[in-house]
Amino acid sequence: MNIQYVHGDCLFTRINKNIKQYEYLTEDIRAEVIIIGGGVTGAILGYYFSKSNIPCVILEKSRIAHGSTSITTSLLEYELDSNALDLMSYTSKENIIKSYKLGVKALDEIQEFIANHGNKCDYRKVDSLLYTSKKIENKVMEEEYYLRKEAGLPVEFIDEANNPFSFDLKSGVLGKGAGAVIDPYKFTHQLIEEGCKMGLKVYENTEVIDIKYSDNDATVETIYGYKVKGKIIIVATGYNTSFFTKRAFGTKSTAFNIATKPIANLDDIYKNIVIKDNKVPYNYFRATNDNRLIMGGEDVNFIPDIYNEELCINSYNKLEQRLKSLFPHLKIEIEYRYCGAFASTQDNLGFIGKDPDNSKLWYCLGYGANGILFAILGGMMLTKLYSGEVDKDMKLFKVDRFDN
Ligand SMILES: Cc1cc2nc3c(=O)[nH]c(=O)nc-3n(C[C@H](O)[C@H](O)[C@H](O)COP(=O)(O)OP(=O)(O)OC[C@H]3O[C@@H](n4cnc5c(N)ncnc54)[C@H](O)[C@@H]3O)c2cc1C
Repeated sequence: MNIQYVHGDCLFTRINKNIKQYEYLTEDIRAEVIIIGGGVTGAILGYYFSKSNIPCVILEKSRIAHGSTSITTSLLEYELDSNALDLMSYTSKENIIKSYKLGVKALDEIQEFIANHGNKCDYRKVDSLLYTSKKIENKVMEEEYYLRKEAGLPVEFIDEANNPFSFDLKSGVLGKGAGAVIDPYKFTHQLIEEGCKMGLKVYENTEVIDIKYSDNDATVETIYGYKVKGKIIIVATGYNTSFFTKRAFGTKSTAFNIATKPIANLDDIYKNIVIKDNKVPYNYFRATNDNRLIMGGEDVNFIPDIYNEELCINSYNKLEQRLKSLFPHLKIEIEYRYCGAFASTQDNLGFIGKDPDNSKLWYCLGYGANGILFAILGGMMLTKLYSGEVDKDMKLFKVDRFDN
């Protein structure tokens, strides 16, 4: 079944015009590393492997950055989907702190990429806020604050008395300079552009339809019959992995997003921050460079093959009401509504590494709300692994960590 992973009018693929297109594959080729999937994850891998002088190719079945990458909200922050107290039912405090610090490392990498190659993707370093509007959750916010403070992360505790925002909150944790935003479509193209300068090959409209493994190689067959031979393949196909393995990765849901028209009088405080509430499922929002607000949330169980219009309209309306209730003083007009698959894991981390049963089948899957940062870590860790060095933190992302 050809499952539809993205629905609706996606902001980033609509507002970005005249972006480079790539050829489809018209000959048999060789590369050491075959990256399957041309979303932000594939682009990150292509960049990191090329930077390490490892010949690699990206094969994308449709268009670059038109999968989940086109609907990501692109809130880049070290904190995870759930607050630390909730996460402690599934993982240790040490692992949570380690994950936060790895998130900071990934954010620094993005900043360095921008410093080296220029800002062509609307990158902005911002603060992050996790807040609650329920008094009963104040304790949870306090725990989150102390955990981060003890870990040496720059945080401030916000409560009703020092709330600088225009909406009501009971308490919250403000991460100073703890986040960033990007245009994910432009970022993906910039990564590929830089990768190509270092030898990366990229083919669009080139679906992988078969893979054969031998002792020394993996050979991939593409839709028009041309083959790519390499040492390993890396699955960077987002939430769509069933063609490559029977292994189940995470729990799928459908997540919804709305984006407003540019807002003339958007308060400055909202231009430099990414905001998430502590609800289940949570809502999150941030501003774009042209002063739109993007809000996401209202996740429901994954809708695989049918477009349930009523459910979607209902979810978009809920998001719109929520945004309007937060900003009654602003003229909010919704211009884009879109939704798609999202997958989460119990410990909120993605999957990076080799298949336990096949050393030529590798994965880089940015599951959870920090998918882009996990892909950056994947780029760093997998290039090292290819050169024979195992990153000590890679075990957090082990592919078989939930196996019994
Ligand atoms: C609503 C939503 C909000 C999100 N918000 C955030 C956020 O704020 N911050 C954050 O860090 N992350 C966020 N994420 C997660 C982030 O979007 C994902 O981690 C990221 O988009 C995944 O990118 P990808 O490249 O792995 O997948 P995709 O963009 O889906 O790319 C995979 C590509 O593989 C291709 N493909 C599939 N099968 C084949 C094949 N057989 N042959 C060739 N190509 C194939 C597909 O066509 C596709 O283009 C969010 C996700 C969603 C859905």
